Amino acid sequence: MSTETPLNTPTRHDQHGQWPQAETVDDFRHNLAAVQARIKASCQRVGRDPASVRLLPVSKTKPQTNLRQAYAAGCRMFGENKPQEAYRKWEEMADLTDLQWSVIGHLQTNKAKLVARFATEFQALDSLRVAVALERRLQAEGRGLDVFVQVNTSGEASKYGLPPDEVAAFLRELPAFSALRVRGFMTLAALSAEASRVRRCFILLRQLRDRLRQDAPDGIGLEELSMGMSGDFEIAIEEGATVVRVGQAIFGARATPDAHYWPSTQKGETD
Ligand SMILES: *Cc1c(COP(=O)(O)O)cnc(C)c1O
Repeated sequence: MSTETPLNTPTRHDQHGQWPQAETVDDFRHNLAAVQARIKASCQRVGRDPASVRLLPVSKTKPQTNLRQAYAAGCRMFGENKPQEAYRKWEEMADLTDLQWSVIGHLQTNKAKLVARFATEFQALDSLRVAVALERRLQAEGRGLDVFVQVNTSGEASKYGLPPDEVAAFLRELPAFSALRVRGFMTLAALSAEASRVRRCFILLRQLRDRLRQDAPDGIGLEELSMGMSGDFEIAIEEGATVVRVGQAIFGARATPDAHYWPSTQKGETD
């Protein structure tokens, strides 16, 4: 966003691992209201409508009890990083018929079957192999899926996602997959306390989107920018995020180290 005064919003990565646990419906109400207030304030700084930002609560590692409390506090969609964990929770919570699931983590082709069965949204599309696998399984289920193309904006080898210069060619392949409804891009910024480095990742994603939207293939929507998490969503909103994926600020810190979710290497992966 272009603004008169330079924005110097800090990250909150120093709070990483220290967010208090939400254990009651009231805790969730309180945390959701606090996050929504921060979303609103960020929007106001850059003249955006808060309704243009969707909050996606990220429930990975948290038990069903907590997810049900969050549901009671008003959440109707959860983001989960691992397909198997998400699938299990979907089965356990099938009684909540208006609850939807967004898979936000890297997918191996052998798990496409699971995702095709229950997810409404998949935010980590980064290869044709995964697109092929999802399309086949979705056709078999008679379902469609909203997808976001994940872009690696930090240049860190540990992050999944396509390098920015490969995204245009990738988009040109996607109209062939009729069950995949392309909505936009997703990224994880550098996990850095240095706000300017984090902001650069978000700016890169927005500029890439703006550039590619001009001649996007038919049927490929690039309205959405999923960027920002507990430690940096305010900066992401200032730079145009339409979806923020927030876990710890709503649920509390996770016991599982993040390295478990963002492997330090992609080598050795079996598909
Ligand atoms: C865990 C996760 C988040 C949320 O991170 P928090 O620090 O809990 O807000 C966002 N995006 C992805 C892809 C994640 O795996």
